[in-house]
Amino acid sequence: MRTALVTGGGAGMGEATSLRLARDGLAVGVLDIDGAAADGVARRIVAAGGKAFAVKADISDRAQVETAVTAVRSNLGPVTVLVNNAGIDRFAAFAEIDDEEWDQVINVNLKGAYIVTQTVLPDMLAAGWGRIVNFSSFGAQTGAQHMVHYTAAKGGIIAMTRSLAIELGPKGITVNSIAPGFILTPMARRAIEGNKFPVPHEQITASFPIPRIGKPEEVAAAVAFFASEEAGYITAQTLGVNGGATV
Ligand code: NAP
Repeated sequence: MRTALVTGGGAGMGEATSLRLARDGLAVGVLDIDGAAADGVARRIVAAGGKAFAVKADISDRAQVETAVTAVRSNLGPVTVLVNNAGIDRFAAFAEIDDEEWDQVINVNLKGAYIVTQTVLPDMLAAGWGRIVNFSSFGAQTGAQHMVHYTAAKGGIIAMTRSLAIELGPKGITVNSIAPGFILTPMARRAIEGNKFPVPHEQITASFPIPRIGKPEEVAAAVAFFASEEAGYITAQTLGVNGGATV
């Protein structure tokens, strides 16, 4: 049984991914800054007959990540599938972004993936096999209003994915990224309710070839594919799961 670690596994696409990977037969380390949420997802996996372990950690804090990964390893075994999903959004006009908010957005969305990947990597190197799936955003591909810091971090994820794929391909490890479109999660709900978009969200999704908001499970299915044995010749790619939004 392979072990996966899903960051931000307590809610939204991380929750859907944790449940999906468990259904596919993986043991799942559910890591989240919200320990109760991670616990709830791990309990659901175990209640359904799967194997899971919940850990609370902030991915931008190396000491917390090291403690969490050690706990996952000793409960579920070496981690050979990593889903760097945890992220935060922030909305501000460029001139209004201050250094604190810039650093927070970069530290969670970009540095967090670097810290968690570096912490987990020895397990994959020892196994000579691994799957890394990083969460970017379609905003990195199209640009997004009042999200300069967020899209800069998510663009960094795409570049990091490619460069890491070059380094890790010869070691049997694939590195890919998912660029979700507009997906109905707690993050998206907060943005909709906070009127963060320039037009009503239905107007945004109406212009997509598939004219609706996406479901977390539709993204989890793409992650599960990248994480599978069959995807072993696919690396350095970014897959848009976005209803065709970038067409
Ligand atoms: P979500 O609903 O906010 O869920 C994210 C989970 O990650 C939450 O449980 C959150 O906890 C946790 N988290 C936040 N900061 C963390 C940290 N520093 N360390 C560990 N866990 C942390 O988000 P989502 O919409 O599922 O998004 C998942 C990923 O897709 C993110 O990287 C996001 O940027 C990206 N994305 C989302 C959309 C979309 O439309 N939803 C589109 C493109 C890309 P708290 O709730 O306590 O903060």
